[in-house]
Amino acid sequence: MTLSSPLNVASQGEQGGGASLPDVVPHAPRQVNPRLAVPVESLRRFFSKVAPSASDCWEWTGTINGSGYGTCSPGFSAPSWMAHRLAYEWFVGPLDADLQIDHLCRNKLCVNPRHLEAVTPTVNMQRAVVARGPYCRNGHLLDASTLRIWSTGGGKTCRYCLVCRRASRARVKARSL
Ligand SMILES: [Zn+2]
Ligand SMILES: [Zn+2]
Repeated sequence: MTLSSPLNVASQGEQGGGASLPDVVPHAPRQVNPRLAVPVESLRRFFSKVAPSASDCWEWTGTINGSGYGTCSPGFSAPSWMAHRLAYEWFVGPLDADLQIDHLCRNKLCVNPRHLEAVTPTVNMQRAVVARGPYCRNGHLLDASTLRIWSTGGGKTCRYCLVCRRASRARVKARSL
């Protein structure tokens, strides 16, 4: 299936046959965030970087940031946006800056608005812990005594494992001695 035009994807979806883009596309310009001017050309460019997957995800094939999320290059909007947040604003509605997008499909690259839910950072973190298991990348159990989460503003949160943090501090200290 090709995505040559965002204006024909909905009709392709109605015809069935594998992954489809939802019928929200034709309504997008009316729901657009007033901060963004979104001509059809922007939608076209956006969908030129989207590949549908068997799980109905819209996988971003454009630029990916260090956190593993798709980003829109300048020209879509300025400054650059995370692709899934942009998709949410276009196809669902204005997104509160304090809210995060939870990928219900657990596919970070997915920009399918049907797979995106706006949630508070706390809820998002709790769901991520459930999805990934309550362990840090080094296998330490994350619980109230080892998991630290804080908001860095703009709807972003950071978390770290206290055990790992202590170990890295000890390494820094050992080097400086
Ligand atoms: Zn998805
Ligand atoms: Zn750890």
